[in-house]
Amino acid sequence: MPKPPSVTPPRPSGDVPQLSQDALLCILENLPVALFAKNPQDDYRWILFNRRAEDLFSIPRTDVIGRTDFELYPAEEADGFRRTDERVMHSGAVVVVDEETVTTPRGTWTAHTVKVPIYDDQGKPSILFGLVEDISAQKEAALHLQGKQEAEKANLIKSEFLANMSHELRTPLNSLLGMARLLGDTALDRKQSEMLNVMQQAGDMLLETINDVLDFSKIEAQQMTLEHIGFAIKPIFAQALNIMQPLASAKGLVLILDWSQPEPPPVMGDPVRLARILHNLIGNAVKYTRFGTIRVVARWAQLADGGVNLSVRVIDTGIGIPAEKQQLIFQKFSQADSSTTRKYGGTGLGLAITQELVQLMGGAIGVESVIDQGSTFWCEIPFPPAHAVDTEWAETMPVMVSPGVKLQPARTHILVAEDNALNQLYMGKLLEAFGFAEVRFVENGHAAVKAYREAHYDVIFMDCHMPEQNGYEATQEIRAAEERTGRHVPIIAMTANALAGEREKCLAFGMDEYVSKPVNIDRFRQVVGHWVNLPEGSGLPPAPTPALGDDP
Ligand code: ADP
Repeated sequence: MPKPPSVTPPRPSGDVPQLSQDALLCILENLPVALFAKNPQDDYRWILFNRRAEDLFSIPRTDVIGRTDFELYPAEEADGFRRTDERVMHSGAVVVVDEETVTTPRGTWTAHTVKVPIYDDQGKPSILFGLVEDISAQKEAALHLQGKQEAEKANLIKSEFLANMSHELRTPLNSLLGMARLLGDTALDRKQSEMLNVMQQAGDMLLETINDVLDFSKIEAQQMTLEHIGFAIKPIFAQALNIMQPLASAKGLVLILDWSQPEPPPVMGDPVRLARILHNLIGNAVKYTRFGTIRVVARWAQLADGGVNLSVRVIDTGIGIPAEKQQLIFQKFSQADSSTTRKYGGTGLGLAITQELVQLMGGAIGVESVIDQGSTFWCEIPFPPAHAVDTEWAETMPVMVSPGVKLQPARTHILVAEDNALNQLYMGKLLEAFGFAEVRFVENGHAAVKAYREAHYDVIFMDCHMPEQNGYEATQEIRAAEERTGRHVPIIAMTANALAGEREKCLAFGMDEYVSKPVNIDRFRQVVGHWVNLPEGSGLPPAPTPALGDDP
């Protein structure tokens, strides 16, 4: 916006010849600014209208000179112009109108106007002089920007709302599921067990959906950040297939991994999210295939920087996707066929999340499909090189907890937080008897939280009463940390406290299960068996141990 001109013009200094009126008019005429003047002594009739003004207003000056605003503009506009003109002349000061609407033969536009009084020889304001420019474009751009910002803000609020809501849903749902598990430990007849089973399955499905919504809203709110850790790619494939195998078998499908190359070197990236991508693609293949084989083909090539370009194809022999729907399914909430929802369930978020994760990793994803013959979902992801595999990740990968799919003891990482040496010994033997090889012991809550942050554990046993920080507080800290990662590590409380209400207390603090000390083998099998596949006959009684409980 131009600065308002000074009322008193600068005087040329020194012996400069005075400019003639013709010369001045010639200058005004050719200035690239729309200029005008009106005569206040004659009803503010127009007396000057330069060439740029003619362009801007789309009126020849012959139609303007000698007229008043009331003859040129709609009454309301003319009224407004007249009021400012009078203000300028009465006050003798410059008036700037930041924004006003002007209707001319070329349409209605927004003007920025500066009006200046010109003084006569007696020092009285005698002519009204004005400059005008069209700021419609700037105004529109500003409005557009504002609209965009408002839309972005609204979207952010929506995503935050979704994130909060899914969190609020998850917390009570976890309690419900925890309680259902406890209920399963009580004496139930067959009918009751069946009913409980249905409740648990429904709860697990609901939890998966809520987790999807949470992930999705994190992506939308741009709060999804990827990890950068050194990891090995192949074990992630092995794990993803392991998890899906039982679901595929249950449907009579064959699920195979086609990995014909040697293992690639370690890479930097987010192994959990890569697992999630595989989980979603393989999960869909299983879901939308009635019979046949699902092949997961993995290939890799070395990149110039020493990294690895991974390409994955998940090939199924399922229902297929019509060509016109193949792009649509990657959009949030969309499904190839609305009847799909009724037949197969789902929210239509899985592929949107998968695509987003692949893109965040700098990769690409797509699908080829023939209806009734099957689909091939492919993705290509470049991973930068890593010097080494982060040791904690070397052996196992965090598990996407999937209903009905369990870990194998030899590959399950266990953390035991227990301060009592004898109890440690006993737990060590018990775990060993069940075939657990990866067990770490820590002595208080702080150490447990630290261990949790440093490495991945599939199950944590948490003594409730420990020095420095007790098990309840440590569990709360771990659960708080999980808010950011979206993971949920099973935490099994151990306490010698057999008081009524202790279980409820443990669940309220975020623990998943409760066992009383000394841990009974059958109870151990029952509780741990929820997450880990404990073969029949494993878990022979550990050698008798002397004092047990919290007071050795
Ligand atoms: P959801 O499975 O929850 O509906 P997704 O985003 O995972 O959501 O998938 C979106 C849609 O894409 C599905 O509803 C289905 O119509 C289609 N789809 C995904 N994977 C396959 C597949 N392997 N075979 C056939 N259709 C698929």
